Amino acid sequence: MSRTAVVIGASMAGMLAAAALARSVDEVIVLERDELPDEPRPRKGLPQGRHAHILLPSGRDAIEELVPGGGVRKRLLAAGATERGLTSGLVTLGPQGWYRRSRHTESHPLLVASRDLIDWTVRDTVLTSTTRISVRRASAAGLLGTAERVTGVRIEDGRGGEDLRAEFVVDASGRGTRVEHWLSELGVTDIPKDVVDAGLVYASRLYRTPEGAEAFPPAQVTADPAGGRPGRSGLLLPIEGSRWLVSLGGTRGGEPTAAPDDFVRFALGLRHTIVGQLIGGAEPLSDVVLSRSTRNERRYFEKAERWPEGLIALGDAVATYNPVYGQGMSVAALGARALSRELDRTGIVAPGLARRVQRAAAKVVDAAWMMSVGQDQWFPGVRGKSPTLADRWLSAYTGRMARVATGSYRVSAAMCEVTTLQADALHLLRPSLLLSTALGPFLPPLSGPPLTPGERAVLTSLSGGH
Ligand SMILES: Cc1cc2nc3c(=O)[nH]c(=O)nc-3n(C[C@H](O)[C@H](O)[C@H](O)COP(=O)(O)OP(=O)(O)OC[C@H]3O[C@@H](n4cnc5c(N)ncnc54)[C@H](O)[C@@H]3O)c2cc1C
Repeated sequence: MSRTAVVIGASMAGMLAAAALARSVDEVIVLERDELPDEPRPRKGLPQGRHAHILLPSGRDAIEELVPGGGVRKRLLAAGATERGLTSGLVTLGPQGWYRRSRHTESHPLLVASRDLIDWTVRDTVLTSTTRISVRRASAAGLLGTAERVTGVRIEDGRGGEDLRAEFVVDASGRGTRVEHWLSELGVTDIPKDVVDAGLVYASRLYRTPEGAEAFPPAQVTADPAGGRPGRSGLLLPIEGSRWLVSLGGTRGGEPTAAPDDFVRFALGLRHTIVGQLIGGAEPLSDVVLSRSTRNERRYFEKAERWPEGLIALGDAVATYNPVYGQGMSVAALGARALSRELDRTGIVAPGLARRVQRAAAKVVDAAWMMSVGQDQWFPGVRGKSPTLADRWLSAYTGRMARVATGSYRVSAAMCEVTTLQADALHLLRPSLLLSTALGPFLPPLSGPPLTPGERAVLTSLSGGH
């Protein structure tokens, strides 16, 4: 009997879920309502592509496992992406001070490229790796089946509606998913949900990399959640095409605007002026684009009392996070990897498969969610779940740890393990780390950004009047 799987959405979660399924079924149909470009270009269904994106090493490794031999990383690097060690290749002002740049250049490499390049490379690599996957331009409009088993998807394309039968369905339609509504039509209701919304607005703009500044590393000024003021942040990423993509963020009461004149001013008003200094005289290549799609929102599908066989949700359809932590794509990839591993273990017809995958994917979501919400809960005017006593203790502990990390590579590397989703948060509660955190940093705080003499000269030359 020929088996078909249907995936809704042809972005990160969808294409990787398709790659996972292609080894277990005869045909995977990926439904995508957007017109997909045949080269890295912005598209309507991926508005976040205008904003700075980094891919964590955990996400990169999950992609390589899902598309073995596909060489997504290699193709990205060949197209102008770069890899930067989180503890060595970034200039970061954390909430508690500047992080020192270590000599361990290989540790925690972040892949830096435009989201459009990542989107296209992943899709193209998956599609060329097998003939079992095809993309069909259509919108999913509902699920077929019952509360016990999903048996397909109701679709709409330019020609009208159609029922598409499938043994397995993946909802990877992103943050705007309608899956809760579709499930309620089948009688599956009461899916628990959480929202923590700091009212963050993201403003991004592209610049031409100034001459002589090609080797300048990514620079980041983070928000301080403990300051009692709106959190304001800035990130400058060198991306392919000799461009800088700069994203500024402000939580409720401290939002950036789309006015071009405000952009540099906002960057200069951050806890340090480095980002503003770098872009003050740089040539803008785009308008300022805003995003308000930044709230932490989670659907606990794994906790639903009833869950049908034959359906899972992955990626942003399950949870979204404050983008500052750069986790969404990696969580999507790790979720698809959970599907792949479960398929390898039990096969596609095993009873309870969907429930098991949804639970396994939720473990990765837990880690990202805890980190993002753990910070956002403290910004003024935040809406949603309030901090518990345990949250307060954890926040005090991680705040202290962040300070110690500015003067200890060991502690900063341990924190990076968790922030890059390579280790569980419990990793931070190991006795040796508790002790290091209690003892405090070995080295005094840095008074300014940790730059090489060459980088300092670039910063000075670009700063002009700022
Ligand atoms: C401002 C901002 C900055 C970010 N920065 C980072 C970062 O640095 N690092 C990181 O890892 N993540 C970041 N993210 C998050 C990241 O962009 C998402 O987590 C990621 O794109 C999720 O992938 P996805 O496949 O789940 O959903 P999406 O990428 O949203 O894709 C959903 C797809 O489904 C399609 N679709 C929707 N509905 C239907 C339908 N009914 N029928 C058919 N197709 C449909 C859409 O057209 C789209 O192609 C950021 C997000 C924002 C908003």
